Amino acid sequence: MAITIPSRQLFIDGQWIEPVLGKRIPIINPASEEIVGDIPAATAADVERAVDAARKALSRSRAHEWASASGAHRAKYLRAIAEKIKERKSELAKLESIDCGKPLEEAAWDIDDVASCFEYNADLAEALDKKKKTPISLPMETFQCHTLKEPIGVVALITPWNYPLLMATWKVAPALAAGCAAILKPSELASVTCLELADVCKEVGLPAGVFNILTGLGPEAGAPLAAHPNVDKIAFTGSSATGSKIMQAASQLPVSLELGGKSPILVFEDVDLDKAVEWTLFGCFWTNGQICSATSRLIVHESIAKEFVDKLVEWCKNIKISDPLEDGCRLGPVVSGGQYEKILKFISTAKSEGATILCGGGRPPHLKKGFYIEPTIITEVITSMQIWREEVFGPVLCVKTFSTEDEAIELANDTEYGLGAAVISRDLDRCDRIAKAVRAGIVWVNCSQPCFCQAPWGGNKRSGFGRELGEWGLDNYLTVKQVTRYISDEPW
Ligand code: NAD
Repeated sequence: MAITIPSRQLFIDGQWIEPVLGKRIPIINPASEEIVGDIPAATAADVERAVDAARKALSRSRAHEWASASGAHRAKYLRAIAEKIKERKSELAKLESIDCGKPLEEAAWDIDDVASCFEYNADLAEALDKKKKTPISLPMETFQCHTLKEPIGVVALITPWNYPLLMATWKVAPALAAGCAAILKPSELASVTCLELADVCKEVGLPAGVFNILTGLGPEAGAPLAAHPNVDKIAFTGSSATGSKIMQAASQLPVSLELGGKSPILVFEDVDLDKAVEWTLFGCFWTNGQICSATSRLIVHESIAKEFVDKLVEWCKNIKISDPLEDGCRLGPVVSGGQYEKILKFISTAKSEGATILCGGGRPPHLKKGFYIEPTIITEVITSMQIWREEVFGPVLCVKTFSTEDEAIELANDTEYGLGAAVISRDLDRCDRIAKAVRAGIVWVNCSQPCFCQAPWGGNKRSGFGRELGEWGLDNYLTVKQVTRYISDEPW
């Protein structure tokens, strides 16, 4: 079934509103390179309107509707949003696929995860009612103390294009569960499904101003939002370069940053080769290789390296590369012409630095249009090469071998990033040692990439700080207040 991309405006204060300057940004389908619609382009004047609307939604006169309502009350909205998302799953998956090039089957998984994340945060909102007030025991009987967990306030949520609706949901769902008012600024490269989330919020009757969306360019819409004095918290997911700018703009605010990665997979000599190959490919080429925690460095024991890499190459030849809406597509185009050029440059630099392109390395010969790049495996890599050190964010895997466990750990930690890492081995004691020794926020053992909304997600080093998902995700949007009473009749 053909699908039309809805033409939307900004969503502010419960209304669809034209951007003040009336500008729009074209949507380019990365599979065809054709313009398939457009999105509104917010600027600083729209940021003002959104921040005012969010602040108004939290005002004392309206606090009973949202911020000081019970978690159970807010949970009803979150569940209603989840239901609508499920009803619209196939349409949303198609929109996501056209907008960012993700294979349709993967986009459908994402939409399932979006609905689950809203439901899970509804549970957390309900549970919050029991944890709102906690007594604190003090060493002096003349005082009584308790803490209150309260919503942090107006939150700015700035998100990337690789999981457009899911990355937005990881922030919007806990922010709403906590009782905050949210302003979402999705990526200009993929905003379509986030605008549909606004439509869903309107349909379920979410109080006006509680969820607002500003689509637009980073410097024009994101920067004024991040620097706005009336925002109480910024949650950002994106590149490390933009993350640094956000930190500078918001130097006195709570900020959580989910940034890039250069995640390793360590494959030991005792593995089942086929299973290990499958996890490596999944880690590297899922979402067209555009996952922050993507397996981008294979560190494999020298005794199995040749056989393992040969198998990888063989499997790569069988990966179906096609329009992401086509049945059985396993690898679609990367998101934009800019990313396409950037990835090809990484590959040509690797070549010029002396690495070997074992397979892939460019456009698949059967696809003349679209931002497609073949699954690419690079060997003869040395650790000073750009391909080993920098995040490519595309279907590119580089390979190094090791002989001892210590060497494997050293290679794994030889990065400025610290988001994900995977270890594949039958020796579970060894896996435990590796899980402790690797400096990363997430370690997968005998798998790579599975992600559950109950478990914390986030990185160390240049991959950012703070944790999303689970109860940690909710805590991002709560603040703790101390209330201390003097209860003695005696003068102090
Ligand atoms: P990006 O940094 O280019 O953009 C992210 C968002 O920031 C977009 O909405 C963009 O418009 C906005 N932005 C850009 N400049 C801005 C500015 N000066 N002020 C405020 N906002 C600004 O990142 P991207 O290319 O959209 O996403 C890819 C990156 O995201 C990769 O590095 C990837 O690793 C990372 N990522 C991390 C995670 C994680 O969980 N750690 C998840 C997904 C993606």
